[in-house]
Amino acid sequence: MTTAPPNSTSPTTTPLSFDALKLSLAVRRAVQDAGYTRPTDVQAAVFGPISTGKDTIVQSKTGSGKTAAFALPLIDRVVEPARGVQVLVLCPTRELALQVSGEFARLGRLKGVVPCAIYGGASLEKQVDEIRAGAHVIVGTPGRVLDHLKRGTFDPSELKTVCLDEADEMLSMGFAEELNAILERLPKTRQTLLFSATMPEAIRRMANRHQKDPESILLSADQISPDSIDHFLYFVGSQDRVTALARVLELESPDRAIIFCNTRDETQSVATALQRRGFSLDYLSGELEQSARERVLAAFREHKIQHLVATDVAARGIDVTDVTHVVNFGFPSEAETYVHRTGRTGRAGKRGVAVSLFGPADVGSVYMLRLTYGIRPIERALPSAAEERTRRELERLAALRVESNVTLDDDTAALARRIVAHDDAERMVGYLVKKFLHQATSDALEKSAPKEERVVAAKAPSSAPTEPPPSEEPAVEVAKTVAAEEPAPARRPRSRSAQEKPRRIDVHGGADPGLEPETFESDMGEVRVAVGRRDGARGGDLARLIRDKAGIAPKDIGSIKIYDRFAIVPVRAESVDAVIAALEDATFNDQPLSPERGKLNEPSLVPPASSEEE
Ligand code: AMP
Repeated sequence: MTTAPPNSTSPTTTPLSFDALKLSLAVRRAVQDAGYTRPTDVQAAVFGPISTGKDTIVQSKTGSGKTAAFALPLIDRVVEPARGVQVLVLCPTRELALQVSGEFARLGRLKGVVPCAIYGGASLEKQVDEIRAGAHVIVGTPGRVLDHLKRGTFDPSELKTVCLDEADEMLSMGFAEELNAILERLPKTRQTLLFSATMPEAIRRMANRHQKDPESILLSADQISPDSIDHFLYFVGSQDRVTALARVLELESPDRAIIFCNTRDETQSVATALQRRGFSLDYLSGELEQSARERVLAAFREHKIQHLVATDVAARGIDVTDVTHVVNFGFPSEAETYVHRTGRTGRAGKRGVAVSLFGPADVGSVYMLRLTYGIRPIERALPSAAEERTRRELERLAALRVESNVTLDDDTAALARRIVAHDDAERMVGYLVKKFLHQATSDALEKSAPKEERVVAAKAPSSAPTEPPPSEEPAVEVAKTVAAEEPAPARRPRSRSAQEKPRRIDVHGGADPGLEPETFESDMGEVRVAVGRRDGARGGDLARLIRDKAGIAPKDIGSIKIYDRFAIVPVRAESVDAVIAALEDATFNDQPLSPERGKLNEPSLVPPASSEEE
């Protein structure tokens, strides 16, 4: 946990404008051109100490404006354009080095401050030319910066300030040795700045070793995790974890995910199991040869594989911007690890999603995450086998409707009527289903599936639901489920009372009571809307509609429970009234939502466990 040292400040108020910072005209203009109207908390808090040359340690997250927080005072008060390299910024990745260098270029343009980004994998000579051409600020990754220092192509004698950006990330990527070697080579009189999202002991030790009486500026813990990430949890009780992961991937359908495992052995077994199910992915683990590691990384970077399975150690240094999802197959025991892992998504102005499987043993870690970083993942329902089966059957039924939209000749129509009116109708239709239906609908489903799914289906015939998996219930049960969902079929095998029972999408698959969602959603309220499964409502569609109408973030909507005639939508308690007002005139499939306040935990809404599955 993060503790504030005695001389630390926690910024809480933000001045109204940049006037308070008394910037030079050139920098003030550049700030204006960048479209910044007022300083962020961290910018206001660090300007004073940095511009007066104090060593400073700052806890700050990506997205808080931290880059400009150190760039502004350094450009305005530290760099003198007539001299050589005066500022060195060290970053964990090439991508960040380029971003930081871009911010220096933008904010320093009118003052004539020139940055230069140096990182591995690019031409050394070109970098040498740029430094020689008069760069004032070097922004680089540790390995390459050390390389230039050793070769003498970067002369640090004029250096006034070194800034370690995302210091925790650099340490977790194994750069400690390089950082120490670099810091040893810099002038002793320099100013040392340390920016870090988390403050583990190793960062404190680094500060003690390399900083002099530093000013500490800590943001409150819940300001640390980037706002650009939505966090979700899926409880996995007694069911097979890899199967649960496959379901989560199908449900979330990430464009590009890094799937984190806690052990090396897991990466391989998880990757192999998912490959067998048709997912396009590969794994990285510490035991891979460097050339194999590079091949896998290149395949991921070039979109030749969709996902990557990795351990924390193996994922170090991965520099891929467009990761849409971070998936924790194993929930990390350290909250800091969670923050690092999930920080690989939601970058470069895009939103990201963090999805974690968690079991009973992880409850403490989830709690610590909330306590330490204020990250409160929303629990989502993993569909039970029965719900998955229902979904697939409904898809097939819809496809059959489309495929069978032909005019029947009289003989066929007469025979069909005889079959459905016969005492043995169920058995005979069942035979036809078994023999012909799957074949008849497969083509239609294939046509309507999104492109990516088609690739997966083509690669993995075993995962395509041509036959119900052995673990699932018999076909006769499937037929009942479909009948219960469909309006007025010829025969309804279920009693009316059974259809009336609310169906709760049970977050624990109905089998394992585990940890109730309310444990994490205790400040959640509920909105009841008057559309349910019989209206074709599905959680994703409702969530989208509510998000659009009420303008609330996906992370503020909990797992929606769909019943036959209505649905319960968990939202933050303070948004309940606003959501109701926003949905007042909304419809779903022409059905008014008629929103009203849900009755949290009202007993009649929660059927006994035995009635939750068909
Ligand atoms: P950073 O935390 O440095 O990654 O910055 C996150 C984003 O905030 C970047 O796109 C910056 O351009 C932007 N930004 C930085 N400072 C300000 C500010 N004072 N007002 C508005 N946007 C800002």
